[in-house]
Amino acid sequence: MTADSSPLFSKVALIGIGLIGSSLAYAMRRAGLAAHIAGFAHRPETLEKARALGFADSLHASLAPAVRDADLVVLAAPVGVFGALAKELAPHLKPGATLSDVGSVKMAVIRDVGPFVPQGVHFIPAHPIAGTEQSGPEAGFAELFDGRWCILTPLPGAVPGSVATLKSFWQRCGSQVEIMDAKHHDLVLAITSHVPHLIAYNIVGTADDLETVTEGEVIKFSAGGFRDFTRIAASDPVMWRDVFLNNREAVLEMLGRFNEDLSALQRAIRWGDGDMLFNLFTRTRAIRRSIVDAGQDISEPNFGRPRAKPGL
Ligand code: NAP
Repeated sequence: MTADSSPLFSKVALIGIGLIGSSLAYAMRRAGLAAHIAGFAHRPETLEKARALGFADSLHASLAPAVRDADLVVLAAPVGVFGALAKELAPHLKPGATLSDVGSVKMAVIRDVGPFVPQGVHFIPAHPIAGTEQSGPEAGFAELFDGRWCILTPLPGAVPGSVATLKSFWQRCGSQVEIMDAKHHDLVLAITSHVPHLIAYNIVGTADDLETVTEGEVIKFSAGGFRDFTRIAASDPVMWRDVFLNNREAVLEMLGRFNEDLSALQRAIRWGDGDMLFNLFTRTRAIRRSIVDAGQDISEPNFGRPRAKPGL
């Protein structure tokens, strides 16, 4: 965070006020980034919860009043609905406004939202690499983005001043910012986030199928490895369905590589190739160390105890 506390925008509209949208509202409040924060959700229960939590200055069940006069509009709903949302809100955008998002995939967002962006509106896709397995407005907290990366994927021809303002916005929300081509983003995230989630969903699903055989032992004796997977596999089903449907090619490409490497491991176990297993496990341990050294995780074991703050 910088020491600058002047508002960057008069009005910011958050289209979706779940984990990411509400966290963004808290982070904006903390940094004094917007004079007015407007929130949109489509279910009355979500609006009610948000009202009680008080992180927005106005709350809306329809898009037009939410985005009217906003200098920054951030799509923070599941990516599968971005196209429909963009179509409906586009006519109400202020000329000169910036339209951005927090979606976990970027090529599909450009494909679905791009055609609706009016002349004179700056469309700058973004993805904060920050989250927890929780969802909904109660899950949000101001520190979610602190020290995490936010990737901006501006299109060719984007106005440098608008990109610089959005970069400063995310930095003041606590993030480090990287600018990347959207296709490259999707490939990187396929291996660092999407495939790991798929593996977690799969292993927990397999264990659940075995449950009938093992009669409760999967839950009772759940060891660290399995428990860590269950945390990831508890992530929001709608959000993750949309991620896989919208990053199909990159995920399939990385899964191909993953399956080849898994077969090599299977072969090493079958043939008793301990050197191969030892060398790989040594290499992967070093990767864990470098992630902790880079400040992207902590080294202390958790063993399933409650954490002081979600996501840390
Ligand atoms: P979330 O907690 O489930 O919140 C989703 C929000 O979108 C809610 O306000 C929800 O409103 C709204 N929404 C759902 N369906 C909608 C629809 N059909 N039309 C309009 N609004 C709808 O999800 P989240 O974790 O904040 O994720 C939001 C976005 O952030 C996703 O695009 C995701 O890819 C991205 N992202 C997530 C993470 C993560 O770890 N969670 C990390 C980085 C980026 P209602 O409650 O009224 O349904």
